[in-house]
Amino acid sequence: MKTIIEQTDKIQMNMDTIKRAGEILKGGGLVAFPTETVYGLGADALNEQAAKKIYAAKGRPSDNPLIVHVADRESLEKITQEIPKAAELAAEAFWPGPLTLILRKSHEVPYGTTGGLETVAVRMPDHEIAREIIRAGGGYIAAPSANTSGRPSPTSARHVQDDLDGRIDMIVDGGTVKIGVESTILDMTVTPPMILRPGAVTKEMLEAVIGEIAVDQTLMDPDSKKAPKAPGMKYRHYAPAAELVVVDGEMDAVVDEINRLSREKEDAGCSVGIIATEETVGRYRTGDIKCVGTRADDSTVASHLYGILREFDRDEVEYIYSEAFAAEGIGSAVMNRLLKAAGHHVLHV
Ligand code: AMP
Ligand code: MG
Repeated sequence: MKTIIEQTDKIQMNMDTIKRAGEILKGGGLVAFPTETVYGLGADALNEQAAKKIYAAKGRPSDNPLIVHVADRESLEKITQEIPKAAELAAEAFWPGPLTLILRKSHEVPYGTTGGLETVAVRMPDHEIAREIIRAGGGYIAAPSANTSGRPSPTSARHVQDDLDGRIDMIVDGGTVKIGVESTILDMTVTPPMILRPGAVTKEMLEAVIGEIAVDQTLMDPDSKKAPKAPGMKYRHYAPAAELVVVDGEMDAVVDEINRLSREKEDAGCSVGIIATEETVGRYRTGDIKCVGTRADDSTVASHLYGILREFDRDEVEYIYSEAFAAEGIGSAVMNRLLKAAGHHVLHV
């Protein structure tokens, strides 16, 4: 299959590109497009055959349900059974935005989209191009991250092309994404509502709007052997090819330990990558040192993390050592993805 790649600007949208993407989606095809979180791989969520193509193109396990993307709040009615008051409030406060709500599904949503579950995940992305494509494609677009299953999520069209060229119908290139980590997933079918995946909409932000929120405790526990509640969170996602180790502790000790480990591996003939921050980047002595962002603003770390993991894959490093981040605000999402990429391998110093 030849993958069509077209660019469009967010402000001056190329409506021919949007129309073409919409026609492919309505015809049951696959179109990758930008959102504010990561690039999504879209298919008509109400067409079981189309949704199934997503699993084949990504190599995604079929028990890992898809998030349905909508272009307005009103679209919720058709695909859900009831919308609790708290869900309405959360959507009002955070849509369009990086918040996915889990609700009871209506019969309109095929089990092929929900991985066999009676619930459906829904989100309205904060990205003009994404919403136009969703509208053009019929209003209900299943769109998991547009990467090969197991690789870091794509934050640019180039990343999508690296993984899926020749396997999907079209890539709409709308530039680099803003946030860089996937949406917060909030299960509204339990009391209190529970965060199944941390993202840019934080627990504190949600509590300010709807009150008490629980967090799936398996997410951040480095030693957890329990399966997370979101089916997809159990897989060793977001993983680079190299062995990744997160080093946690007081900053000076972390830098010393990463320098020591890197020297040790290089002496043994292995190549090493280091995930540093603006505050520490000058203190590393050896290895392929990359600065992921500044500790003064964790959102810079979120937006560069996946791109850097992909660069290490390209550089073919064998070991990656990363500093840890405080699990507060969007730092929770950063740490959760890092821990998953590391297979929960953390050194405390
Ligand atoms: P992705 O679209 O690649 O960001 O992955 C979607 C995530 O949402 C996976 O971790 C899924 O397990 C999760 N998810 C989707 N639908 C549901 C659902 N109905 N219940 C719980 N988790 C879900
Ligand atoms: Mg994904």
